[in-house]
Amino acid sequence: MSEIKVTTSAVQTQGYSIAIGTGLLSSVLSDVEKQFGKTGKFVVTDENVASAGHLETLLSGRTIPTFVIRPAGETSKNISTVVEIVEEMEREYLGRDTVVLALGGGTAGDIAGFAAAIFKRGVPVIQIPTTTVAQADSAVGGKTGVDSTVSKNAFGAFWQPAGVHIDVATLKTLDDRQFRAGLVESVKHALIADAEYFGFLESNLDRILQREMDVLEQVAYSNCRIKAAIVQADPTEKNQRRILNYGHTIGHAVESASGFELLHGESVAIGLMAAGLIEIELGFGSRERLEKVRKILSRLGVPTALPENISKNSLIETIRHDKKAINKWPKFVLIDIIGAVHCQEGQWAVDVRQEVVEKVLGKL
Ligand code: NAD
Repeated sequence: MSEIKVTTSAVQTQGYSIAIGTGLLSSVLSDVEKQFGKTGKFVVTDENVASAGHLETLLSGRTIPTFVIRPAGETSKNISTVVEIVEEMEREYLGRDTVVLALGGGTAGDIAGFAAAIFKRGVPVIQIPTTTVAQADSAVGGKTGVDSTVSKNAFGAFWQPAGVHIDVATLKTLDDRQFRAGLVESVKHALIADAEYFGFLESNLDRILQREMDVLEQVAYSNCRIKAAIVQADPTEKNQRRILNYGHTIGHAVESASGFELLHGESVAIGLMAAGLIEIELGFGSRERLEKVRKILSRLGVPTALPENISKNSLIETIRHDKKAINKWPKFVLIDIIGAVHCQEGQWAVDVRQEVVEKVLGKL
């Protein structure tokens, strides 16, 4: 088992640790009791994670009030689910000494984290991620929230976890498409922060895809190390944290233009290819580098080209509505070399003219 310590300046916690291992799920409750004593506990999970057996392993014979999100996934990531969770906690007579345990992927983690942030003005949340997305990304960093009928994550709070417990054995039951798409965030981490990690992913991809536990532990460790360092430096995304958006500006637009037919990671894969083409246009990319990125994404089995039914014009329109846009056009995160983000006058997201993006979309 390995451990990463994260420091924060958040009101609710000065720091937390991320435990990574294989088969640690059954000891999470006793670890939480060591951390908090005999406090009230409440578990939030979803129906697929529960039926895959992970809820049973977490509880290991104990009775703890539990809310199971139904249906699993983004359609339940809304404020009504949060209201149901909070009211269920009240019915269980839980007080301000409650600890919420979020067991599942990014949707369960975001919903449970947000419910914890607002229950009786905020109680601790322990993140127990069970997808490649959540183990690489959403469980660390404190972004929580749910969607409105207008946009994603419209209700939200920064609510740092009180602990993160990553059991890579939970990934054994994850559907192959979800498993592969979630690994795109690992490729992104390597591209923005760590060339050596990129080489590790290239050399070990077959073992990763075969879900060999020791290599999955190393992947989770590298992802959390990279993400934790970035969010520690800029917890509320004033500047440097924006580098985590690499590939995401065009990726989000592709995801929404696909009517959410493409998974987030699949859309980000196309976004990473677009970023590489922009870098070539602006003179700090290279065909050779882009080919390395294309190759690893293809081995993951995610798309590297724009599907034919997505029009360039609809993408431009969606990019103009990006929530980070200023004067209807966002800034873009780009890299100089694998492992190092391009920084201009202290800014980690830079101006790219619309004509350049249009040209690149034409080549995607
Ligand atoms: P998800 O939580 O919907 O999980 C995908 C599917 O896999 C679901 O059907 C789920 O029930 C199932 N599942 C989860 N773990 C399983 C397991 N071990 N075995 C079998 N089935 C399992 O999706 P996700 O990709 O993990 O997360 C996507 C969400 O995360 C989005 O809402 C996104 O906005 C959010 N997100 C948040 C952050 C953040 O910083 N807070 C970062 C990235 C993504």
